Amino acid sequence: MKLNGIHHITAITADAQRNIDFYAGVLGLRLVKKSVNQDEPSVYHLFYADEQGSPGADMTFFEFPYAAPGRPGAGMIHRITWRVASTDAFGFWERRLAEAGVQAEATDEYLRFSDPEGLAHEFVVADVPDQPLIADHPEVPREFAIQGFHGVRAYAFDPERSKRFFEETLGFEPNGDGWEVRGATRGGLYAYDEAPAERGLQGAGTVHHVAWYSETEDHEPWRERIAAAGARPTPVIDRFWFRSVYFREPNGILFELATPDPGFAVDEDPEHLGEKLILPPFLEDKREQIEAILKPVRNPRQSARA
Ligand code: ZN
Repeated sequence: MKLNGIHHITAITADAQRNIDFYAGVLGLRLVKKSVNQDEPSVYHLFYADEQGSPGADMTFFEFPYAAPGRPGAGMIHRITWRVASTDAFGFWERRLAEAGVQAEATDEYLRFSDPEGLAHEFVVADVPDQPLIADHPEVPREFAIQGFHGVRAYAFDPERSKRFFEETLGFEPNGDGWEVRGATRGGLYAYDEAPAERGLQGAGTVHHVAWYSETEDHEPWRERIAAAGARPTPVIDRFWFRSVYFREPNGILFELATPDPGFAVDEDPEHLGEKLILPPFLEDKREQIEAILKPVRNPRQSARA
């Protein structure tokens, strides 16, 4: 039983339109699902990914319209690393980000920048056999496009505290200054940096959780194994596009295990993912009230093709 890399990463935005403009516009990801927070349906839950909406490339945001800017601290993920095909992509992205008013830091090893709310991203060239997960965007040539997640880095005061749980319970393999989480088709990295003294604040521009990809048949066995290790997982929750189990790792970072099934095409034509507001079945009878509260958002990719 192996976790197959990262399934999705969920963060917080205070401004859905600015978020769509950045992730579906500037970064060229595909908005694959426009929905609401299932625990708080008055706010958006936006999902971006590659063209197919694959696990491994799925960045999601809860919109909390009045959220104060957050800042990562101990127990929080502070940087998301994505793969690109070559270092030539760094120059392309540096220019494209600059045109959008985003300053990037480029070296031979990486390109680093933050989204408009301060969420830190990094592009690297990774030597992995994983299939690139690419979205089609008219302004982003395929050779420069984002290819999916490579890893996340979190802040912790005591990395040793998580080591045994990662290696004996979750099957993380030591790799570089952290761990690799690799399954049948994909892998992802997880590493710590020394936490700043200042407390973290969960707010706009911070990561809420990282979800690891669990094969569907392994999902319940994983839950049992995590419970046996004392990590207190939630019951399996039906998120309609995948099933989820949540727990905190020993340094406090919120983890989820999510399944690849049934996927984003379960309730929408794959050609038209993300175009309409999709509600989970139990909220469908409240659609009118929900739509009246949500501020309409414009998808730059849809407008570009119209
Ligand atoms: Zn999640």
